[in-house]
Amino acid sequence: MKKKMSLPMQILIALVAGIAVGLVCYFGGFADITTNYLKPFGDIFVNLLKFIVVPVVLLSMIDGIISMNDMRKVGSVGVKTVVYFLCTTAIACVIGLVFANIFNGAGLFPVLDAASAEYEAKEFGGFMSTLVAIFPTNMWKSFTDANMLQVIVISLFLGGSILAAGERAKLCRDFVSSAYAVIEQLMSFIISLAPIGVFTYMAWVVATQGSEVLVSLLLVIVCAYLGYIVHAVVVYSLSAKIFVGMSPVKFFKGAFAAMIFAFTSTSSAATLPVSKECAAELGAEDDIASFVLPLGSTINMDGTAIYQCVATVFLASCANIHLTIGQMVIVVVTATLASIGTAGVSGAGMIMLAMVLEALGIPVAYIGLIVAVDRIFDMGRTCLNVTGDIACSVCVTKWEGKKK
Ligand code: ASP
Repeated sequence: MKKKMSLPMQILIALVAGIAVGLVCYFGGFADITTNYLKPFGDIFVNLLKFIVVPVVLLSMIDGIISMNDMRKVGSVGVKTVVYFLCTTAIACVIGLVFANIFNGAGLFPVLDAASAEYEAKEFGGFMSTLVAIFPTNMWKSFTDANMLQVIVISLFLGGSILAAGERAKLCRDFVSSAYAVIEQLMSFIISLAPIGVFTYMAWVVATQGSEVLVSLLLVIVCAYLGYIVHAVVVYSLSAKIFVGMSPVKFFKGAFAAMIFAFTSTSSAATLPVSKECAAELGAEDDIASFVLPLGSTINMDGTAIYQCVATVFLASCANIHLTIGQMVIVVVTATLASIGTAGVSGAGMIMLAMVLEALGIPVAYIGLIVAVDRIFDMGRTCLNVTGDIACSVCVTKWEGKKK
């Protein structure tokens, strides 16, 4: 019997084919075909992923908590996860700022006229009201709005209560593991369609984004991508090496399918099912990955943090504002918080960039200067975001002493 090609291989072929078709359509002048006839198939695929993301996060986290079978272990995994997320995000901000300042100092950033820039920012209610909003008043509303932070809080409460109820919760335990088995089955079917999503989105992006604005912002994009690459190579592969003893090649090979998928879908939440498979492949314990990955796809956004730092320095230079060391510290703190608050969906990091700009007094309308190429930034930052989640699940597994 012929051996079936592995998913990462299929995804790689889809990526290359998508780029080739996108280039042909771009130079042939029929980019519209990709928008009208290819992208809709990518949209169908992402819709399918979005439709299972709430049950995946809910059931995966509750199942993970139940499997740990001990609230102390949940606490210990939770603390290690959050510490890993916070430390790596703060390092990401520093890397982003270092690259942005090098580029800015060397005069590599273009100076764009911001007079015509238009962008309407979302209102931020401040830290306390954001904190209050994490706690749901109506569970069903959290599900229908796909408010992932609230879904995580619900999962923690329900999972903890099932553990606390002991024998009386047996029916609930069985229900959760049975429902999760069904969702996992559905997930693997949807993931098997990933090459179609990757191919259609890639062809569409390549065919439609080759505009002038991309050329004018090329060096800003290069700066962000250098930050993404350095962070992945230094922070993730070093943590896999130092904490788990895993070679960087093995780590990136294992994470490859999720990385490419995130790159094309620009959604950490939608990539969650693929990240779970990759984490399992790299030896992350199932109960730990079931806890770490949904949490990471909601709050751990190192790529977003790098992007926000680079964009802030660039937009500040367009506004003729020279950031002081004190202001850079504000950038690190606000970009860390803004990235935590960024939802794992396409384009969310740019919306949260407004929070960082507001903290520095840079006009939020300046975001209009980079909005046209946000997808290009987003592809790299989402790729880095999910890589960080997978790295964390592997490290926490090791720290909990359960590495396979
Ligand atoms: N698209 C990113 C993600 O899903 C979030 C962002 O826009 O920065 O991880």
